[in-house]
Amino acid sequence: MDLTKLTARKIRGMIERGEASAVEICRAFQDRIREQDPEVQAFLHHDNDFALSQAERIDRMKQAGEPLPELAGLPMAIKDNLLIRGLRCTCGSRNLENFVAPYNATVIDRLASAGAVFLGKANLDEYAMGSSTENSAFQPTRNPHSRNHVPGGSSGGSAAAVGAHMAVAALGTDTGGSIRQPASFCGVVGMKPTYSRVSRYGLVAFGSSLDQIGPLAHDVEDVAGILKVISGKDPLDATSLAVDVPDYAGGLGQPIEGLKIGITREYRQSGVSEPVRTRIEAGLKLFQDLGCRLIEVDLPHTDYAIATYYVIAMAEASSNLARYDGVRYGLRIPGQGDLSSMYRETRDAGFGAEVKRRIMLGTFVLSSGYYDAYYLKAQQVRTLIKRDFEAAFQRVDLLISPTSPTPPFRLGEKTSDPLSMYLSDIFTITANLVGIPGISLPCGRTPDGMPVGIQLLGKHFDEPVVLNAAHAFEQAGGFDP
Ligand code: GLN
Repeated sequence: MDLTKLTARKIRGMIERGEASAVEICRAFQDRIREQDPEVQAFLHHDNDFALSQAERIDRMKQAGEPLPELAGLPMAIKDNLLIRGLRCTCGSRNLENFVAPYNATVIDRLASAGAVFLGKANLDEYAMGSSTENSAFQPTRNPHSRNHVPGGSSGGSAAAVGAHMAVAALGTDTGGSIRQPASFCGVVGMKPTYSRVSRYGLVAFGSSLDQIGPLAHDVEDVAGILKVISGKDPLDATSLAVDVPDYAGGLGQPIEGLKIGITREYRQSGVSEPVRTRIEAGLKLFQDLGCRLIEVDLPHTDYAIATYYVIAMAEASSNLARYDGVRYGLRIPGQGDLSSMYRETRDAGFGAEVKRRIMLGTFVLSSGYYDAYYLKAQQVRTLIKRDFEAAFQRVDLLISPTSPTPPFRLGEKTSDPLSMYLSDIFTITANLVGIPGISLPCGRTPDGMPVGIQLLGKHFDEPVVLNAAHAFEQAGGFDP
């Protein structure tokens, strides 16, 4: 049996019944990584002994007759902007190339207690800034379905690791689509939870009012199982909320007949490419066949969403990245011996072009004289966008759209045109501006065999509704990723 094709539930079951050990499963994935990753380049680094020692712990529990935790033996890839104590955390940046994490992110502690095994750290756009993983300072990741295409980004390594069966599941982070868009490009399921659902402690900050951590996996039930483990109040993150964490996986399987799903007029008008549109129309029909009602809704401020997101995300990034000054973290270039040349040369050598662009633009929109015109204005428009969504959610339970307007693009296709890269985020960024949960799930393939993802957005803390609808679609559709 090919151990790398199993779900988290099956893996746990096999270990429980003594059909395979956690170590055997872990080794099967390490072999798969050895075979696939030289081409896919999803991982930045891994520590095989560290992963095996986690698997051995599970096997010892089994031998001692102890009850196995819910994610026992689950082999995972972790985006390299999340801290695992003792392992490097590079954020895809030269600046943190040799930075070793001194503590665990809360999500890592929770997954470790639930029995997960961390295979390695997954590639990303530098500091999670990008939509293709080409902004990594170390390597581009390739799409597991076509080596000439990007896996999406910024959690491209996480999505490609799952898509290429080098991990059963992964953690990514989503500031403006970075879990959902790569999930759609790699043919896997990815979820961004409600802002404040999952603790951000130990996530290297990009846009603090937008960032959320979430799971990627092959199916909705695995995503639901992981989400339950990582969710909940954390005293170490003041923005995490003490809202009850339901048994997301246990709540799946409810009928979705009568569910009202909003389809935006903006989707009909926007430049969605033909092969994506065809697949999405088939997806909409499937929801109708399942008894859902499709209702047209307006989100009139969508035209301003890209500009609003990029002003806010860059402003927050410029502020968050001020800490990489050669004194507190990471790289230091001594310069000419004085403080300002040390700062200048360190930041010049440590950051890549996209990060520098964002620091400059972010600093500009926050500077005196421009603050009111750009940053404050963007915050005001953010409120208008939130109101659009509140009004839409008065009428519908969920909103639906493609995850990305195009299928995966070719490596190098958009690197010289940052604006076209930004524009491809149109369907994902609003969920971050508003703080609501969203999921991307496979919706078939283009005639060229590239995956297409469909996105569902829900109300704040309505993860159970989003997951249940996604699960019903997955079960009914059999849209083979
Ligand atoms: N593509 C978006 C950006 O470049 C989103 C990134 C993210 O979600 N981390 O900002």
